[in-house]
Amino acid sequence: MKYPKAIIETKALKHNVEIIRKLAPNSKICAIVKANAYGHGLIEVARTLLNHVEGVGVARIAEAERLRDAGINNDIILLEGFLGAAELLKLNELKLSTAVHCYEQLELIEKYAPSLNKLKVWLKFNTGMNRLGLDADEAREVKLRLEALDCIEEINLMTHFANADDPKNNYTNLQLENFNRLNEELKLKKSISASSGVLFFPQTRAEWIRPGIIIYGISPSHESIEDYGFIPVMNLETIITNIFKLEAGKQLPQSNFISSQDNYIGVIALGTGDGYPAQAPEGTPFLINGRRVELLGKVGVDFIYVNLGNQLQDKIGDKVTIFGKGLPVEVVAKHINVITYELTTKLTTQTKHEYIIN
Ligand SMILES: *Cc1c(COP(=O)(O)O)cnc(C)c1O
Repeated sequence: MKYPKAIIETKALKHNVEIIRKLAPNSKICAIVKANAYGHGLIEVARTLLNHVEGVGVARIAEAERLRDAGINNDIILLEGFLGAAELLKLNELKLSTAVHCYEQLELIEKYAPSLNKLKVWLKFNTGMNRLGLDADEAREVKLRLEALDCIEEINLMTHFANADDPKNNYTNLQLENFNRLNEELKLKKSISASSGVLFFPQTRAEWIRPGIIIYGISPSHESIEDYGFIPVMNLETIITNIFKLEAGKQLPQSNFISSQDNYIGVIALGTGDGYPAQAPEGTPFLINGRRVELLGKVGVDFIYVNLGNQLQDKIGDKVTIFGKGLPVEVVAKHINVITYELTTKLTTQTKHEYIIN
């Protein structure tokens, strides 16, 4: 037996892409599968979506290599671009599209242009995220210099928002204005929004969109996205490993919890070794036999305690939902005060992935 177990329904992935398609019917979808498809399994997710999206996006070249090795022939976009000549040659051999976010990348493309196969690039315009990207003057120049090269098949323009998860934050509109101002001049195909942009800023649903987290049915913030029709793709489960009785007035080991009555304590197979956040406070919810129970004490490396109450109604081996059906990941993330992304992307290899192919 291997726990925790991430149960992944491929039907839900396809359903979520359909919801996105309805929101942005005129956009091509580049499904973001970086970080092992946000913990859902790179190859399985990409395979499921193969005929449902126009492209997939990864952060690093090693992920793209794994996809090609698995026979995924979609358009693959390298969101971070490349570092050094070897990566440029590799990405070109793998037929990847790449972001170009700095002069070093431009110069490498120029240097190797005579030996490169057709290359599609996405100029990354820094409209205010200030992580990666060219400013407007640089973007103009990079475009001109790339256009002069025979190997360049397509030049598109992308940007990334800093605060789009907050629909009321005006910074997104300022970034969008910057973007549109430059592109009135450059007239390139655009890719502007990730999940939050797609949801909250309809005017950013351009020729291409780059949704990540919502494909997995998870909100980019702590607010539920159920109303849009998204379905969580992952149910994360584990089991009760042991149950013991804590008598009234006794203190739970490794905890400040002193029971006011006789209490049953569940020892649960879950801990930091599985990627569960160490900072999860007492009171963090879990679902056992249809009812919510709460975390007690500190998160250990492979065990936590939960309070099963003063009536014994559970047994060793019973299923524990960490998040998923009946316990949304947004609720758990909010309780722990982490971003929703963290709960699935940090799962370690101790987690067994089980796919329901439907
Ligand atoms: C990660 C990433 C995305 C997807 O972000 P979500 O918030 O998960 O939708 C899109 N574009 C770029 C450039 C990214 O790095």
